[in-house]
Amino acid sequence: MSVPVSATLAINEALEKRRRAGLPVLPLGFGEAGLPVHPALREALSAHGHHNSYGPVTGLPELRTAAAGYWQRRALPADPDLMIVGPGSKPLLYGLLLSLGGDVVVPAPSWVSYAAQARLTGAQPVHVPAAPGQGGVPQPELLETAVTQARSLGRDVRSVIVTVPDNPTGTVPSRDTVERLAEVARELDLVIVSDEIYRDLVHDDVTLVHSPAEFAPERTVVTTGLSKNLALGGWRMGLARFPDSAAGQQLHSGVAGVASEIWSSPATPVQHAAAFALSEPDQLVERVDRSRRLHGAVARAVCDRLTSAGIPVPTPQAAFYLYPDFQPWREHLAAHGVTSGAELATYLLDSYGMGTVPGAEFEGGDKALRIRLATSMLYGTDEAEQCAALAAEEP
Ligand code: PLP
Repeated sequence: MSVPVSATLAINEALEKRRRAGLPVLPLGFGEAGLPVHPALREALSAHGHHNSYGPVTGLPELRTAAAGYWQRRALPADPDLMIVGPGSKPLLYGLLLSLGGDVVVPAPSWVSYAAQARLTGAQPVHVPAAPGQGGVPQPELLETAVTQARSLGRDVRSVIVTVPDNPTGTVPSRDTVERLAEVARELDLVIVSDEIYRDLVHDDVTLVHSPAEFAPERTVVTTGLSKNLALGGWRMGLARFPDSAAGQQLHSGVAGVASEIWSSPATPVQHAAAFALSEPDQLVERVDRSRRLHGAVARAVCDRLTSAGIPVPTPQAAFYLYPDFQPWREHLAAHGVTSGAELATYLLDSYGMGTVPGAEFEGGDKALRIRLATSMLYGTDEAEQCAALAAEEP
C-alpha cells in the first residue's frame, strides 16, 4: 500500500528543504503554537529521565488518574480504567477507527487526517457539511439524511467524528448544535468520536466548549493531548476517554489491543511529566491562558487586515488557524496563474517561502487556505509589541 505523506507534514518537509538550501521560510502550515517548553515542564521531564522501562499498554495509572482530574474539572466524569494514553492523539484516533470498523462520518471541512485514516482502515469517509459558524460538527439535520442514504446503499456507517473547537475554522460549535448532534447520533446508533485537542485554547473567557459527552455520555469517546494547549507536539502525548457502557468497554479493549501491537506504550518519562501537566499547577494554567490570549490577539489583527484587503474571514474563537477563502481575489490571482487553493499554496511557498495548507485538503472550498496564526505575522504593526510581550511573559 502506498500512502501519501499527510498534507500538513508534507509542507513541513518542503519548508525544511528550503531552510537547508538557505532560503527564507515562514512556517504557517503545520499546527503548533510557537511557544517554548515551559520551564516547569522541562524540569518535570528531566526529573523522570531515568525511567527506561516500557509502561502499561493503557498508560501509567498516575497519568490516567491525573487525566481523570483534568476531565472532571471540565465537568466530564472520567474513569482512569476507561482511558488509553497514546503517543499523540493521532494514533489513538487511528486505533479508534480500526476498532470501530465500518464507515465514518466526518465534517466538511475537517482536519486532514480523519478521512485519510478512515481510508487506511479500509473504511470510506462520509462527508457531511458543517453549518456556517458551527465548524467541526456535521450539520445534525444533514447527518440523518446522509447516514440513512449511505446505509440504504449498503454502507455500514458506525461512527461520526466531531472536532470541538474546530480545526481548520477555529469555531466553537454552540451548545444547541452539539446537543442536536448527540441526539441524532443516538437515533442512528452511531459512536461519537469527539476530538477535543483545542478545548483549552478558546480565545475569550466567555465562550463555553460543549462536548457531545455531556449529551450522549454512553456513546462518546473523547480524545485530547498536550500538543496544542502546552505546545508539546514533539512530546507525542495523547489521551482517549471511553464511555462507561458495554460498547465503551468493548471499544476500550479493542484500542488497547491495537496499542499493544503498534506502540506498546508511550515514552515513560513523558508520561510522568504529562501526569504533572494534567494536574494543572498554576504556572501551567497561566501558560495556557497566555497562549490562548496571544492567539486571540493575532487572530483579530490578521482577520482585520484580510477583511480590509477584500478577503472577509470570520474571526476564529479558538485554536490558531484561519481558514480564509480567496475567491474574492480570483481575478488578481489568475493574473499570476493561480486558480485554486493548491496553486495559491504553491505560489506562496515558491515566492515567499510561506507554508500554508490548501483548503481542499480539509475537504473545504477550492479557493480556501488554512493558515496557522503566528506572532511573526504582525511584525512592524501596532499589535506586534503587545504580542511579543504576551509571548515573553514567563513566571
Ligand atoms: N486532532 C486535530 C484536530 C489536530 O489538528 C491535530 C494536530 O494537528 C491532532 C488531532 C493530532 O494531535 P497529536 O499531536 O495529539 O497527535
